Amino acid sequence: MIVTLHHYTPLVICSDAIRTCWQSFDKSDNGGEVDRALIDRVGNKFKHASTLEHIVYNFYIKGISRALLQELARHRMASLSVKSTRYTLKELKDEAPFSVDDKERAKKYLVMTGVDMVDEMSIRALENLRAVLASGISNDRAKYCLPESYKTELTWSINARSLQNFISLRSDKAALWEICDLAHALYDALPEDHRYLFEHLLKEEH
Ligand SMILES: Cc1cc2nc3c(=O)[nH]c(=O)nc-3n(C[C@H](O)[C@H](O)[C@H](O)COP(=O)(O)OP(=O)(O)OC[C@H]3O[C@@H](n4cnc5c(N)ncnc54)[C@H](O)[C@@H]3O)c2cc1C
Repeated sequence: MIVTLHHYTPLVICSDAIRTCWQSFDKSDNGGEVDRALIDRVGNKFKHASTLEHIVYNFYIKGISRALLQELARHRMASLSVKSTRYTLKELKDEAPFSVDDKERAKKYLVMTGVDMVDEMSIRALENLRAVLASGISNDRAKYCLPESYKTELTWSINARSLQNFISLRSDKAALWEICDLAHALYDALPEDHRYLFEHLLKEEH
């Protein structure tokens, strides 16, 4: 998977939002150490966590499975715009038939698990889908035989409070390995000066 951070709110927007309550704008150091400490104190320690909602991150996430996508979609406090299979499945139509030995070529479309039997079955499902499309059946119907391993991509926007919740729940070993990888990749894509809001929530990798 590839995670790219397209845009984010500077920390000073959040510290100024907090300072609105006390009208203490003159104490700001424009998102420096003083403001960073204020955000941590109010947003995290005082649990006035709604202030963290003023920080928003816009990520582009590429090459995750649709199995992961359905778990990602459970996080209601985030916005998704996902590559549509209805509009894009034609990408598969002109491919040559896939055999189980075509792992490298199939990786363009499938997330591999590293378990040979599962990956081979995924490639067979991909070949079934390709054959359905090649026979002229519309994307709208063909999509019903997509394997869960089929790759997708999306724009994902989330505020800092909700990202804390996501990282805490999904970087844990109890989570699906692929969403656990995503939680770590999202953290790694964050600006250096924002990471302190999340690092205490990050658990071990699988
Ligand atoms: C290890 C693991 C296993 C899981 N297994 C399953 C499973 O087997 N089946 C399954 O269906 N799901 C499963 N889930 C998904 C889980 O139930 C949540 O849907 C998902 O983690 C999103 O969490 P969330 O609701 O905190 O996040 P969000 O939807 O982003 O919500 C963020 C926060 O907003 C608040 N909130 C949002 N909506 C409401 C509301 N309606 N009422 C009150 N407060 C609200 C809550 O405080 C919530 O924590 C699993 C999750 C994990 C981490």
